[in-house]
Amino acid sequence: MEKKISISQIKEVALEAYNEVKEQTGGKNADYIPYLANIDSKLFGLSICLMNGQTINIGDTDYRFGIESVSKVHTAILILRQYGAQKVLDMIGADATGLPFNSIIAILLENDHPSTPLVNAGAISACSMVQPVGNPDKKWDAIVQNITELCGSAPQLIDELYKSETATNFNNRSIAWLLKNYNRIYDDPDVALDLYTRQCSLGITAEQLGIAAGTIANNGVNPVTRQSVFDAGLAPKITSMISTVGFYEHSGDWMYTAGIPAKSGVGGGVMAVLPGVMGVSAFAPPLDEAGNSVKAQLAVKFIMNKLGLGVFNGDNVTITE
Ligand code: GLU
Repeated sequence: MEKKISISQIKEVALEAYNEVKEQTGGKNADYIPYLANIDSKLFGLSICLMNGQTINIGDTDYRFGIESVSKVHTAILILRQYGAQKVLDMIGADATGLPFNSIIAILLENDHPSTPLVNAGAISACSMVQPVGNPDKKWDAIVQNITELCGSAPQLIDELYKSETATNFNNRSIAWLLKNYNRIYDDPDVALDLYTRQCSLGITAEQLGIAAGTIANNGVNPVTRQSVFDAGLAPKITSMISTVGFYEHSGDWMYTAGIPAKSGVGGGVMAVLPGVMGVSAFAPPLDEAGNSVKAQLAVKFIMNKLGLGVFNGDNVTITE
């Protein structure tokens, strides 16, 4: 069906979503990474990026929070750019694990591949693939450059978060070496782990994440800078991976109720992609038990349901002035 939605309607619904959700007290900051436990749990921002480059920002959209697992999407895009869709499928895979993001059992169960770049195992494996293999500094530059292009502006390392994660990432260290055991690490395991830890510690704003989501929704062309960041053919690969596992073991419930592929991070960020229509991002630190921001989920879901939008709705959506 043809569906027309005006920009003022989107602004109105976004504001309504923000006001509806802002007093919610559910959830709790991640505390297994000490830095995250101390972030003001009242922070809340909501950002939408439309395909004409317009952004709609409400609340704390210029606060820099830890990107955490949302960075997995960015680096998945980088290896898709460097290796192409088939190689990423062969070397990592695109399956959901149905298990928590940092599951070791998932690796043992699927020991022929780490499933998807969007869980810890696959993300560490993805960092090992980033080119140029064997050159940690250049690999890091490639990761940051890719995020910068997707967001249209640079992220900034939160040094305290990086130190905090490095001092406590014992589970991820085990994952890196277990993957090495299964020949699923394509560079030095410690380098891959460090790059993964560092990318998770990048500070990003909700507006930047919204623009990155907009770039994916816009088939690889950043709607704000108009730069062509990745090949349009990769966009459906990215959104399919996000919809399969973006909310970890809650991904099915999420797609069923919100209808938009979205990726969360334990820093409280969520990045959601409605292909051809908009990128949406929300940030609020308190998380549910699976590690997904409570307020961000509610806000994005509110917008989708209220506007009657959804990736499976089969509508041809036009945004009007
Ligand atoms: N750096 C975090 C970890 O590896 C990211 C987890 C997440 O955001 O889901 O545990």
